Amino acid sequence: MRILVTNDDGVQAPGLLALAQEMRKLGDVTVLAPDRNWSASGHVKTMERPLRVRETHLADGSDAYTSDGAPSDCVALAVLGILDEKYDLVVSGINPNANIGHDVTYSGTVTAAMEAVISGIPGIAVSLNSPPEHGERDYGPAARAALRVAEKIVSQPLPEGVLLNVNVPYLYDDEFKGFMVTRQGLRVYRDALVRRQDPRGRPYYWIGGDFPTGIPEDGTDVGALAAGYVSLTPLQLDLTARAALDPLRQIDW
Ligand code: MN
Repeated sequence: MRILVTNDDGVQAPGLLALAQEMRKLGDVTVLAPDRNWSASGHVKTMERPLRVRETHLADGSDAYTSDGAPSDCVALAVLGILDEKYDLVVSGINPNANIGHDVTYSGTVTAAMEAVISGIPGIAVSLNSPPEHGERDYGPAARAALRVAEKIVSQPLPEGVLLNVNVPYLYDDEFKGFMVTRQGLRVYRDALVRRQDPRGRPYYWIGGDFPTGIPEDGTDVGALAAGYVSLTPLQLDLTARAALDPLRQIDW
């Protein structure tokens, strides 16, 4: 069992270390992760510049690789054979904040797992719903939840083309209500435009505002987290709006 571990927060992020350490209980772990923070970078394929990969070490002294590419580039590099290894599973995370609702298309954590699925390898994205301005976080409970999910996926494989988006409430292990299979819920974004002036008098812009909230509807990722459950949302890359097919076919194009 060979597992590729990556993330979108950078190779030295503590969430990745916690995830890699847990995954070693399931198989041989290779870490290839970005050399900087790519949070909210979406699904990237770098095509206009070369990519570099170099060896590094995690905080526990273990070997790792890092690249100047995006999270999805890291998965592509590994899957295309840069290290002459084949992978049975790709696990991405642990992101410090939840990736729920519409977050999934922004998320570097989730899109790394999408890249795995494109290559026919099972992909799991793991995110922790910790408070937005939190300092040092305890990733232990989320890492143990991720191991349990990965073990299940190995024995009962995901359908082809499906990745699993895992979101873990910020609780101690014995406080989890359980694991809940969910659908994507609705985030409420509170983005606001911040317009300032640089020292030369030219305007610049920042997309600021408050941290997003969500609508905690039953059966959704948002609802599961609010109720203290680990949320397991199966995602697919076929984004076709099936309900819109027939109405559109009625139009005399
Ligand atoms: Mn991130």
